Amino acid sequence: MARYTDSVCRQCRREGTKLFLKGDRCYNDAKCAVVKRHTPPGQHGQSRARKASEYGTQLREKQKTRRAYGISESQFHKYYEMASNMKGVTGEQMLCLIERRLDNVVYRLGLGSSRAQARQWITHGHILVDGQKVDIPSYLVKPGQKISIRSGSFDVPFFKEVREQGADKPIAKWLDFDAANLSGTVAAMPQRDDIDLTIEEHLIVEFYSK
Ligand code: SF4
Repeated sequence: MARYTDSVCRQCRREGTKLFLKGDRCYNDAKCAVVKRHTPPGQHGQSRARKASEYGTQLREKQKTRRAYGISESQFHKYYEMASNMKGVTGEQMLCLIERRLDNVVYRLGLGSSRAQARQWITHGHILVDGQKVDIPSYLVKPGQKISIRSGSFDVPFFKEVREQGADKPIAKWLDFDAANLSGTVAAMPQRDDIDLTIEEHLIVEFYSK
C-alpha cells in the first residue's frame, strides 16, 4: 500500500469527522485537530463550504471509510467486489469483511491504540493466529481463531500496560478478550450492528456500482 506521509489529522479534517487514527490523542478533544479546526485542510479549506454533489457525497463516504480503516483504494475496491458476490446486503457484507481484517481485530481487542499501531505490531511479527505468526494485516480472521501476542513480546511496554490495566476501550461483542494472557478469540462473525463507525455504506455501493 502506498504510504501516507502527511499528518494523519489532515485526513480527519478533510472528512470533517474523527477517524481515530492517532490512538489516545483522539480521545482528548483539547488535542484533536478536527475538534479544534472545523474546516478542511489547505489554503482553500475555509472557502470549500459548498453543497456537495451526489457523486461528491458518495466519494467522501468511501474515502472516509477507507481512511478510518487505513486501507488502499485497490484493497478497498476488492472488498466491494468480494461483497457483491456474497449473499446479503452488499454494503453490510463489505463492512463485515473489512472488520475481520487482522489489523482491525488487534485494534478492537485493545492490543493496538490505533489501527496503524496494530498494523505495525503485525508486520513486526508480534502477533500470532492460532499460535502461528501472521504478518499480513489484511488476513481475514474466522470464528474460533485465537489471536495472541508472541511470548517474547510480553515485555513491550504497551503490552505490559494492557496486561496490568486491561483493554482501554470496550471489546466488540463478537470478540472475547483475555487481558492476563494478552489473547483474544473470535467468538462469531461480526454483524453490521457491531460496527460503531458512522458509515452510510449504501453511498459506497452506489459510488462503485456506477
Ligand atoms: Fe483525527 Fe485523532 Fe487527529 Fe483527532 S487526534 S484529528 S481523531 S487523528
